Amino acid sequence: MTDCVFCKIVKGEIQSNTVYEDESNLAFLDINPQAMGHTMVISKTHASSLLELDDDKLKSLIIAVKEMAKKIKDKLNPDGFSYGINQGKISGQSVPHLHIHIFPRYENDGGSSVHSIVKNPGPRSVEEIYEVLK
Ligand code: 5GP
Ligand code: ZN
Repeated sequence: MTDCVFCKIVKGEIQSNTVYEDESNLAFLDINPQAMGHTMVISKTHASSLLELDDDKLKSLIIAVKEMAKKIKDKLNPDGFSYGINQGKISGQSVPHLHIHIFPRYENDGGSSVHSIVKNPGPRSVEEIYEVLK
């Protein structure tokens, strides 16, 4: 996609600190890191979200996340990881090319868990939602 900043990174039109690459995927350091070693992993194929990327490429992408996390664990020795995908403006997605954030986590880093993203379960009971989704 011509206007997409991450497609431009894939094509080498924008510089990035690429730390992992395979046939289908790329990982590079976030330009505005929220943690030491904050990395983003993308498919080289443009898809705005996980729902649009085909299954084979999605499987390959999650394996690339695993490879990158192994590398970070080896080299930076974090105490844990948080992983994240923002999908849609409401969630905070600012680049419309699917990317999986890897946030290495360190003792006393002041961060929180994915549970802190939202705390608004809405009026419907768990049982009602189960009836809708089962
Ligand atoms: P989002 O908010 O869409 O989940 O995350 C987009 C991320 O991309 C942000 O964390 C932002 O810092 C990062 N970002 C945006 N533009 C660039 C860029 O040109 N290069 C790199 N390395 N990161 C970028
Ligand atoms: Zn793109």
